[in-house]
Amino acid sequence: MTSDEIKALDSQYVMHTYNRFPVALDHGQGARLYSPEGREYIDFTSGIGVSDLGCGYAPWVDAITAQAKKLGHASNLFYTEPCARLAEILCRRTGASCAFFANGGGEANEGMIKLARKYSFDRYGGGRSAIITLKNSFHGRTVTTLAATGQEQFHNSFFPFTEGFRYAAADSMDSLRQTAGDDVCAVMVELVQGEGGVLPLNPVYVRALAAVCAQKDWLLLVDEVQSGVGRTGSLFAFQQYGIAPDVVSFAKGIAGGLPMSGILAGEKCRDVLGPGTHATTFGGNPVCAAAGLVVQETLSDDFLEGVKEKGAYLRSQIEALNLPCFGATRGMGLMIGIEVRDGFSNSAIAGKLTEAGLLVLTAGPGMRLLPPLVITKDEMDAGVAIMKRALAG
Ligand SMILES: *Cc1c(COP(=O)(O)O)cnc(C)c1O
Repeated sequence: MTSDEIKALDSQYVMHTYNRFPVALDHGQGARLYSPEGREYIDFTSGIGVSDLGCGYAPWVDAITAQAKKLGHASNLFYTEPCARLAEILCRRTGASCAFFANGGGEANEGMIKLARKYSFDRYGGGRSAIITLKNSFHGRTVTTLAATGQEQFHNSFFPFTEGFRYAAADSMDSLRQTAGDDVCAVMVELVQGEGGVLPLNPVYVRALAAVCAQKDWLLLVDEVQSGVGRTGSLFAFQQYGIAPDVVSFAKGIAGGLPMSGILAGEKCRDVLGPGTHATTFGGNPVCAAAGLVVQETLSDDFLEGVKEKGAYLRSQIEALNLPCFGATRGMGLMIGIEVRDGFSNSAIAGKLTEAGLLVLTAGPGMRLLPPLVITKDEMDAGVAIMKRALAG
């Protein structure tokens, strides 16, 4: 099919919930993607931080193929090796005690919220179920995770929302104290707010927050759906903040492009969700877990160091362009935000760049870049050259 045929068919039969770019993607290699007609795009999105190994990474393709031939699915009523091994690696690399696997970020956060409420209910009884989240956060699209999301624009149309979420200003212990109360069981944060605009939290605040949580026995829930799995230059961003969350959620990059998510729980929370309290049909699927094992094998400590270097390089190259529309860059590793100056629109810039052959994302009022973690210098340079061509003058 041609790009135009795909667009027409999709527009007729797929629900119009996405503002898609006018681009159809057909195949790719590394950080280069191609339309059905062979038009090349440099990919600074990795499918919103999902394809961390780029397109067509041979060990990933081989592992998925081999596992699909052996056993494509088994219900969670049975044991399978890839799921058990992936859980082991994640626990060993993070200090967590155990994992629960699900399918998407919103679903993982639902599990994290359920765990926090049950932990508190088991220990303290009712009336202690409120969860403090941060303003400008994003935690998902289910009715409960929309309620957890600290942005008014998401609290519309779908009433009634799940009760029990309150929002504190990021980086403010004063705001946290004002939002607190005897009814609180947990605090949930993104350490680098992704959708909100690639805004890393202040490490001093994060450590103070962790200390208050420990003192009050509020669970510290960290949503690493976007920042996790090597994106920031460590396996999880919390490792660079020097804290040990009670529960961490992950999703986007965990299986390099197959749908998988989950939560990691610390020792204290190991047995909160016992038999029959939580489940999901596809969770821990052997093909997804086999893909996740390849991601873990690839993301060695040296590789993660390289992610930091690549991020620093890409940011310096973009800043050196001195484009009239861009202010400073920010972020951690290959989770990069670019400030868009007054008088310019981030969606118009994204449209221009896409037309010129560079795929980018927006977040908050700025730009967001989430290139594949395997991106090469050559691919980064090609993307920056497109930026210069499309946005200079
Ligand atoms: C993307 C995202 C989610 C939602 O993930 P889905 O897979 O779309 O459900 C939740 N939290 C954060 C921080 C995200 O970036």
